Amino acid sequence: MSKITNYIAGELRPPSAGEYLDIIEPATGEVYAQVADSTADDVAAAVEAARDAFPQWSHMPAAERSAILTRIADLLEQNAEDLARAESIDTGKPLKLARTVDIPRAVNSFRFFAAAILHAHSESHATDYQAINYTLRRPQGVVGLISPWNLPLYLLSWKVAPAIATGNTAVAKPSEITPVTAHRLAQICMEAGLPSGVLNIVHGTGAKAGASLVEHPDVNTISFTGGTATGEVIARAAAPKFKKIALELGGKNPNIIFADADFDEVIPASLRSSFANQGQVCLCGSRVFVEQQRYDEFVERFVTATRKLKIGDPLEESTDHGAQVSQAQLDKVTYYVELAKDEGGEILCGGRQPDAVSERCKNGYFFEPTVITGLGVECRVNQEEIFGPVVTIMPFESEDQVADYANSTKYGLSASIWTQNLTRAHRLAERIDSGTVWVNCWMLRDLRVPFGGMKSSGVGREGGAEAMRFFTEPKNVCIKI
Ligand code: NDP
Repeated sequence: MSKITNYIAGELRPPSAGEYLDIIEPATGEVYAQVADSTADDVAAAVEAARDAFPQWSHMPAAERSAILTRIADLLEQNAEDLARAESIDTGKPLKLARTVDIPRAVNSFRFFAAAILHAHSESHATDYQAINYTLRRPQGVVGLISPWNLPLYLLSWKVAPAIATGNTAVAKPSEITPVTAHRLAQICMEAGLPSGVLNIVHGTGAKAGASLVEHPDVNTISFTGGTATGEVIARAAAPKFKKIALELGGKNPNIIFADADFDEVIPASLRSSFANQGQVCLCGSRVFVEQQRYDEFVERFVTATRKLKIGDPLEESTDHGAQVSQAQLDKVTYYVELAKDEGGEILCGGRQPDAVSERCKNGYFFEPTVITGLGVECRVNQEEIFGPVVTIMPFESEDQVADYANSTKYGLSASIWTQNLTRAHRLAERIDSGTVWVNCWMLRDLRVPFGGMKSSGVGREGGAEAMRFFTEPKNVCIKI
């Protein structure tokens, strides 16, 4: 059975304690590989390698760093089909989703930041004919990057690319549930000629490897994407050591549909925003609000379209809906569907595991896309992040009411608004407490914009310019003239 090892100081290294964890293919429920179960010693070795690499890497001309990042992007692109397949097997997501979203977006992350560092600039301010101030932006040093299982390569690249482009060296800890594409990235970095120690990848659990990385005294910056509860643990550990942190956390995002929206666009887009990656995207619109006049029509058309989604082996081209990532996620989804029934919800479709989708996948973690109505905004199902293929639909009567509904959870990651009335869209976008508001679209990405959440969805912003700022430390120089 293949074993995934760590990437430390430019080489693939087994974990120091020799321990490994099983990796399960979600579509079959079977162990198909193993991954290093790293300890604090492995993290310490990775941090030491990153520290050693920092002086040279941070002083390398931007054009040379840019060329290396571009080579990484090229190699990811050349290996796109293999990577998409690996990601589909590792996560249970449909191959066509990995091919069209995860891998191209990972390539773009490296390309974008390879270009961005060539155009970096800093500010200068003249002070009343007395002085000139200019701001130097310097890399932070060794940064810690912790990423989740749902979009493993894409979210890892989203952190690694800006971190190393700006001259930092990094230690990454991907989720041990889906480590395969991170391992492929390590191999590609070696092939691209990334100097040893610039990026180190330590696999293992959050409790052991992740916590050791956060605690390490030589890691002064942590960029974390994952659940809100884990974010709280990380914030607690980092605060007394005054570490700089960015936390990209959970969401319970509203998808708001006005009666004047174009339903021919809204229905397919809402299917994607509800069920993409089996509902395991932090940006999924899990609470759908539809203006009263067209509520019945929406429910009927949406449920009909949901029933047509093809649940199947993620590796088959025709599959729209694959497996949940793990037994634990499947159990969580099942729990919330039972809770919805207890809270008075009506399950219009789904709500169960499908019959075996194929012989190969008979023990996989599949769950039908599920649509629920009849619940109020305050019930637990509408307040807590399920992170699965479960959406609720609720009617609303006015703009004021839907703004209150949208803001009624502790989360504030993203929202979608569907309407032909753009004045209303602007007005409502301003009122909704979330880091991103999409109007007549969902999950369109421009790497230049700040990305992140409000309230319990996170602290700090990533994305293009924001990431360049996050991963650099400003130093002001004031010269008397
Ligand atoms: P988790 O919070 O469970 O884990 C995220 C990462 O943190 C994993 O690598 C995990 O390792 C690690 N980790 C866990 N505990 C610690 C710790 N004490 N110290 C350091 N690291 C730790 O999230 P999931 O992997 O379950 O991902 C799903 C969550 O991520 C959802 O809530 C989703 O909304 C959120 N998310 C947010 C996004 C955003 O941009 N805002 C984007 C994508 C997902 P291990 O796997 O061993 O637990």
